[in-house]
Amino acid sequence: MDLTCRYRPRNACCLTAAFALRCHGHRRHTRRAGIAGVARRLESTHAIVIGMRFLLLMMLPLVALIAASPAPPVRGVHLMAPAAEDVPLAARFIREALPKEGVNVLVLEFDYHYRFTRRPEVAESDALSPDDVKVLASACKDAGVRLIPEIDLLGHQSWEKATGGLLRAHPEFDETPGKYPLNQGIYCRSYCPLHPRVHDVLFDLIDELADAAGADSFHVGMDEVFLLGDDDCPRCKGKGKAELFAQEVIALHDHLARSKRTMWMWGDRLLDGESTGFGEWEASINKTHGALGRIPRDIVICDWHYERALPTLEYFAVQGFGVLACPWRRADVALNQLDAIRRVRSHATEAISNRMQGVLQTTWAGIAPFARAYFGQSDPGGTAPSGNIVESLACFRALFSELRAMDGR
Ligand SMILES: [Zn+2]
Repeated sequence: MDLTCRYRPRNACCLTAAFALRCHGHRRHTRRAGIAGVARRLESTHAIVIGMRFLLLMMLPLVALIAASPAPPVRGVHLMAPAAEDVPLAARFIREALPKEGVNVLVLEFDYHYRFTRRPEVAESDALSPDDVKVLASACKDAGVRLIPEIDLLGHQSWEKATGGLLRAHPEFDETPGKYPLNQGIYCRSYCPLHPRVHDVLFDLIDELADAAGADSFHVGMDEVFLLGDDDCPRCKGKGKAELFAQEVIALHDHLARSKRTMWMWGDRLLDGESTGFGEWEASINKTHGALGRIPRDIVICDWHYERALPTLEYFAVQGFGVLACPWRRADVALNQLDAIRRVRSHATEAISNRMQGVLQTTWAGIAPFARAYFGQSDPGGTAPSGNIVESLACFRALFSELRAMDGR
């Protein structure tokens, strides 16, 4: 019996199909035999078929277990890219810790911390070199981990008083140029998605970073966008926010599709924060959620909720998207989200079950301080890990322990 069929892990039907093919092949072989041997061969064939049926019956419980396996395929962690001096530590963490914990996806958020050769003006002063990223990519390859780079796009173009590399180098792309001096009174700046030259730059950044990382997917962020369709933007004024948001999602998606890469994004702007009571952070109250029906279904939605296990995984899956649960610091929330994945993967239709792809644990920590906390090392300054790292590490350990238990590890 050939159990190496590529469908074996998730489709019990293939076992039946494999048997059918083999039995069919055997019958054809029997027909080619001489007439004198037909009776004996038929008898032999019959015995083989009976034997196979017996074996199949014996394996049915295993087959059923495989078919209904609630263990999701994506087990990811999200971390911020390291500083150059911490690349060796990050590589060690990837090689030693991630396979041991059962992590198979690493979303590493670079933003503009990469020395882009085509757009060098955008790089931050402490940007990683192509060789640094090659070291990280090589460690991921050795560890059997998919490396998915992220640049947080559209929103998150500033943090507190610091404006990020894109708008610092290209202030003409700012959605609200001249407004909010020192970024006061806003959460983060946004770029204008309708600026005629913004995508030429963004696409170069995406391509260069994805190529350096050897990535088959790219995370474009797009969370917590509050400045969009500003009344003072000559291009966006008067346009619907759902339309603007959807157009930008489609533009980024279609560009990635040209290099056969899958787009990942945060899901919060696609949820209605008012009717659900989710609020303005983990969902939208500025009408961007209307974009949900207009965007391609092959985008992977990273559905972050940190305080409660909301029924949004199921919602995105029913809407046609692959979806990942993204907890942060609370193990009880993470395990409840995993329970939802397990339940749906066990009981829903195959189409819905397959869209519940797994987890992407967020940490909101750099990979180096997270690794030091994981290995029990103190920071270079001798300071203890932050409360955030302690909590997100505890959540990480609890979640991945449960995932390994689902695999019998
Ligand atoms: Zn605009």
